[in-house]
Amino acid sequence: MSPRLYIDNAASQPLRPEAQEAMARAADLLNPAGQYASGRNARRALEDAREQIAELLGADPAEVIFTGSGTEADNIAVQGLAFGSKAHRGATVIASSDIEHPAVMEAVDWLTSGPMGFGFRRLLLPVDATSRVLAQQWIRAHGTTNAQPADIALLTCMWANNETGALQPVHELAQFAREHGIPFHTDAVQAVGHIPVDFHALGASTLAASAHKFGGPKSTGILLARRDADILSPVRGGGQERKLRSGTVNVQGAVGSAAALASAIKEMEQATATQTAARERLRAAVESIEGAHIWTPREHSLPGHLHVSFPGAEGDSLIMLLDAAGVDASTGSACSAGVNRASHVLTAMGVPVDVARGALRLTIGADITNEQVDYLAGILPRVVEQARAAGMA
Ligand code: PLP
Repeated sequence: MSPRLYIDNAASQPLRPEAQEAMARAADLLNPAGQYASGRNARRALEDAREQIAELLGADPAEVIFTGSGTEADNIAVQGLAFGSKAHRGATVIASSDIEHPAVMEAVDWLTSGPMGFGFRRLLLPVDATSRVLAQQWIRAHGTTNAQPADIALLTCMWANNETGALQPVHELAQFAREHGIPFHTDAVQAVGHIPVDFHALGASTLAASAHKFGGPKSTGILLARRDADILSPVRGGGQERKLRSGTVNVQGAVGSAAALASAIKEMEQATATQTAARERLRAAVESIEGAHIWTPREHSLPGHLHVSFPGAEGDSLIMLLDAAGVDASTGSACSAGVNRASHVLTAMGVPVDVARGALRLTIGADITNEQVDYLAGILPRVVEQARAAGMA
């Protein structure tokens, strides 16, 4: 087997050669706002990247905003749409679920229960045991909740969950939002580059993506924002990027993102086939381990995710043992990395804390080999046994 198996692609994917080459070509570009030759050169490269991304994601170039990360794109959308709705419509309810990534969840918490007293309150979207938001149930109930559509400042739902990989009913939610004039944001950080994404077909107000999740550079986010989206951005400054994300634009990052996205989309079909086959073989290996729980649904999920729990084992022990065996994996929960805490996604699904603490997220790359799958499937039972023997912290 090759020296190490990297199976944490949902955390960050290796830089694609196409992105690396495009970024090397763009390395010397200067400030795209400059009113002189070097500025024009940088601007041309930036606008080419914007056009390419727009075309690949079903958006207009003017709707593509480059940001400093997926987290920043989420924050501009969540805070900006909420502020816009409050300022111009007096709406103060934010509807979101408990399975969002901290990039959205913390922003919603900040607005609804943070120390600043922004005056928003939260309406919870229900989630089922497979980590899917119950859109129809919520839509049917909206008339009987104490928030009417006119009160809703923002409806937000991720496209795919970063832990379980479960795809969310974003089309149903976007349609409901559109019919009622509610701004709708989707955190598509795990979806873009992995499944087909069409911004106009979805009809959301905003969508967040992050280049390093599809083989682009780190700290380069993309926010798609409809022109009529009422966003009062929390990022204030020189007014770049439609005044939504002030700050000198990272042209090299934009160019790398466009190249990576083009490559990811070109290879998507093949990648999906490879990942699905590997995932199902790993699923069978996990199923054979006593007491194992598998959280990733077989249907309606990202092809490369396999999120599991082994009760009696600590997630961090599993990761350390795998690391020692040459495998890079994670528990999958951003906030619990390095801290023995149960994942908020699993607890939102109703999973007991002791079961949730034995979580392991395997996220498969498109270049995985049969030999690597066999190796991982072969060592897993022993790793689980050793982690169980080590006990819970
Ligand atoms: N949203 C989701 C669903 C994610 O998985 C992540 C990263 O793990 C983010 C947002 C944050 O993206 P970034 O690392 O670019 O800030």
